[in-house]
Amino acid sequence: MIELSDRLNAMEESATIAMSRKSRELRAEGKDVISLSLGEPDFNTPEFIKDAAVQAMKDNFTMYTPVPGYDDLREVISKKFKRDNGLNYDVNQIVVSTGAKQSLANVVLSVINNGDEVIIPAPYWVSYIEIVKVSEGIPVIVNAGIENDFKITPSQLEAAITPKTKMMMFSTPCNPTGSVYSTEELRGLADVIKKHPKLIVISDEIYEHINFTSKHSSLAQFDDVYEQIVTVNGVSKAWSMTGWRLGYIGASKQIADACTKVQGQFTSGTCSITQKAAIAAIAADPEVLKDMIAAFKSRRSLVLDALAKIEGVKANVPEGAFYVFPDVSYFIGKSINGKIMISGSDLCMYLLEHAQVALVTGEAFGDSNCIRISYAASKETLNEAMSRIKIALEKLK
Ligand code: PMP
Ligand code: GLU
Repeated sequence: MIELSDRLNAMEESATIAMSRKSRELRAEGKDVISLSLGEPDFNTPEFIKDAAVQAMKDNFTMYTPVPGYDDLREVISKKFKRDNGLNYDVNQIVVSTGAKQSLANVVLSVINNGDEVIIPAPYWVSYIEIVKVSEGIPVIVNAGIENDFKITPSQLEAAITPKTKMMMFSTPCNPTGSVYSTEELRGLADVIKKHPKLIVISDEIYEHINFTSKHSSLAQFDDVYEQIVTVNGVSKAWSMTGWRLGYIGASKQIADACTKVQGQFTSGTCSITQKAAIAAIAADPEVLKDMIAAFKSRRSLVLDALAKIEGVKANVPEGAFYVFPDVSYFIGKSINGKIMISGSDLCMYLLEHAQVALVTGEAFGDSNCIRISYAASKETLNEAMSRIKIALEKLK
């Protein structure tokens, strides 16, 4: 029997990935499972991006790349930050990685020492906690409930800061809630952040373009906190490039250099062909995404309308990303055939087994009253899934 490290043994498997694996296995057994578990656009990567990748191969961009990414890609990212977010990041402040997941891990590994506290507003994206734990940091959870649209307030942030606080990490638009922080709300958080100059904040903006109401607002736009913010983004969500694996950061030069050092030992630069394809994506006018965004918006309405017809379900209106995170606590304590639903996880298992719809339990995101529905699926699929969920939930007494 191999003895694995304590570090590994303390790590949870990613719940999003576990649930999508489970639904793939059930499908392979012939079960008609609808998976709304993985946060992955169901659109194909646009042709002009694939063409750029083909051209890159033909042009023999097939060798190791500079660790922080090709210069021409970093140029394009620098221009994108200016164009879309009003942010000034020079090329040497940008590090390209193998997915935004690696970008997050690089930053946390670069900054966190054993015992440092990392404030994570809940609901949070699953991997934040595990990345912090593996870096020997201590996650400090600040709960933002559905009544506050799942967003934390400046006073909640202030109250969570101790002499051991080193970092905060959050996403806007948020996975799993779809909540979007407005410019005023970010300004409120910045007022607290600037009082603590040693605090580093990761602002994960990977869903930036999937925003249904307002223009996306970046935390680093405020000059008085700019140096403290690490802006994370990537091509997976907006450009339907989840399998290509490319994320990036804009940060102070010191953090960018640190991330390059970490990455130089772990993975080196990300795939050369992906980088050339990403140049085409990131240089493109985000206007070309408008049909996809409209499709997500109308699917959001479909899911919200269907949830409104199920007694006991409470949902806020998510302003971005492609998730709804309804509160299903009404069903906790109810039962079927003697099996009591003790938690959101029980409900998810019940929905998987009896309705054959795969969702992700809110427990994985730090709110056990909720479940996450990813609506990155066709309307036909969503209609069928929502009708199955309604029938199954109404059987619980
Ligand atoms: N941050 C958030 C909030 C996400 O939902 C995801 C999705 N996987 C990521 C980061 C990582 O994205 P990727 O590694 O595919 O670039
Ligand atoms: N971010 C997506 C999700 O939350 C993809 C899965 C993952 O990378 O964990 O479902």
